[in-house]
Amino acid sequence: METTLTDPYLPKLATCVFSDDEESAISAALATVKPWDWKPGGTQEVALVAAKVKIRDLHKVRQGDRCCYCRFPLHGGGHFIVDPEHVLPKSLDAYRPLAFSVWNLGIACKRCNMQYKRAKIDFVIDKDDAAQFQISANYRLIHPNFDLYKDHISITLQMNDDTTLIKYTKLPGSEKGPYTYDYFNLREREVGTFDAAQGLEVPADLEDGALEAQALARQFDQ
Ligand SMILES: [Zn+2]
Repeated sequence: METTLTDPYLPKLATCVFSDDEESAISAALATVKPWDWKPGGTQEVALVAAKVKIRDLHKVRQGDRCCYCRFPLHGGGHFIVDPEHVLPKSLDAYRPLAFSVWNLGIACKRCNMQYKRAKIDFVIDKDDAAQFQISANYRLIHPNFDLYKDHISITLQMNDDTTLIKYTKLPGSEKGPYTYDYFNLREREVGTFDAAQGLEVPADLEDGALEAQALARQFDQ
């Protein structure tokens, strides 16, 4: 198993440095039941919001303003569209202390975050040993910070007058590519989204959730 910490994106994670006020607000938040959503009011809350913006802005640049899992553009979307993504879910007690750990965060679209990832941890190999949490090989999916997406999946976009088609190509030798493709049902991204955006017929087998995701996807592109 790989033992070195890898950080293939720029700016580096280490460039995210919190002020003293932000650090102390984060420490106080981590002592609560829901650190990320804690709203203490006053200067502490101002510092927490500043820290969250700092984290989000770093990941926006690192990810090219795209979802870390499906790579759909997030630009133009405000807080409503862009979900802060906690790879190890902040809602589980074991990972709550990592709620503000920049290496455990990214930005994702609502579809990937709410419809597919949620609070699951089946993509984590060693779920208990904290020494493994910052190691790429401990994750079956393409990690937003420890793996370069294009090493695993290559994306091409085809556009003509009426339709835009996205194609995910799983790269030979990558196990994370196919895993991520299946985990986030990226096939649906290829076949449905843009046709629906163009007013063409939506495949009948798409569930309500998928339709909702498509509506959100349309908002991304405005
Ligand atoms: Zn996504």
